[in-house]
Amino acid sequence: MAVLELLPSDDPQHAITLGEGFTPLLPTAGLGKLYGLDDLWIKDEGMNPTGTFKARGAAVGVTRARELGIRRLAMPTAGNAGGAWAVYAARAGMELSVVMPSDAPALNQREAFVVGAKTYLVRGLISDAGGIVARYVHETGAFDASTLKEPYRIEGKKTMGYEIAEQFGWKLPDAILYPAGGGVGIIGIWKALAEMEDLGWIHGRWPKLIVVQAEGCAPLVRAFAEGAEVSEFWSGAATIAAGIRVPKALGDFLVLRALRETGGTAVAITDAEIMHAMHETAQREGLWVCPEGAAAIAAAGKLRESGFLRADERVVVLNTGTGIKYPDLVTPELPVLSPDGNLPPD
Ligand SMILES: *Cc1c(COP(=O)(O)O)cnc(C)c1O
Repeated sequence: MAVLELLPSDDPQHAITLGEGFTPLLPTAGLGKLYGLDDLWIKDEGMNPTGTFKARGAAVGVTRARELGIRRLAMPTAGNAGGAWAVYAARAGMELSVVMPSDAPALNQREAFVVGAKTYLVRGLISDAGGIVARYVHETGAFDASTLKEPYRIEGKKTMGYEIAEQFGWKLPDAILYPAGGGVGIIGIWKALAEMEDLGWIHGRWPKLIVVQAEGCAPLVRAFAEGAEVSEFWSGAATIAAGIRVPKALGDFLVLRALRETGGTAVAITDAEIMHAMHETAQREGLWVCPEGAAAIAAAGKLRESGFLRADERVVVLNTGTGIKYPDLVTPELPVLSPDGNLPPD
């Protein structure tokens, strides 16, 4: 783990770690050219253990929970957080119950199960899973590790902010785009900016913080557009980007403040645009990004088109996970050859 002094562990020697963090920050000139952004970068969180940035939050959350003597955890999840916490809980020898929507990505169900988490599905959304977990912790005394109901996972996620600054030699980019569900990643980056400024590690203008959601579930985008301080529950939430299918974020007021105070914005992207950006990024950059990351990439193009982003601005998109975790989104009908067959001439 990086920046140990800034993380809430009393005993970093015994941190529960699998090598998370310090993910590559990649220049993506091919994609940038396509979108008219001359200085476009992708921070590839897909390189983390369990294939998403959720590993950062789980590493710190599980480490701290164990230090504080907690042995039994429970949490609702859209999928990836449950997978990551299950993996770190297994490594820590802790018990974890996770509840996720029955249509959560198949890989998330299996990764939680395979490491021994008690894995349950609910015919509903993450908000329904949250209700089940709340009743469970009330009855059993298990620790509720829901997003923002425990204070430590955000400390793990904030390390993304430290790394972006460090990887650019402590010179901040102009904009950071982030696909938001619960919004913890962007709140964490915002917190990291404040801390780094207090430490004297960064100076000058902060990046515009921009959150991206799916059109089928965009409570933060709607609240931002309406000038509201909190979001309203989004009914009928639906998108292929499962990680951002969160109908109401507990920390919505913090996300909205982060956007407004940094001069950022909030953008909604359709599932078709997500798939298009996923294929474009794969083919131009060799990066199979997750649909959530693809949404943020598509949003960068959209904001360039609208003039919100200038061509010469340094723009960082967080690809929050690897596309490999979503194999069902790419199902080509590949030509089958007989053993003595020939490839078609070009
Ligand atoms: C959880 C998740 C998000 C959203 O993260 P929040 O911190 O809940 O906003 C984005 N992308 C992926 C791949 C995720 O798993």
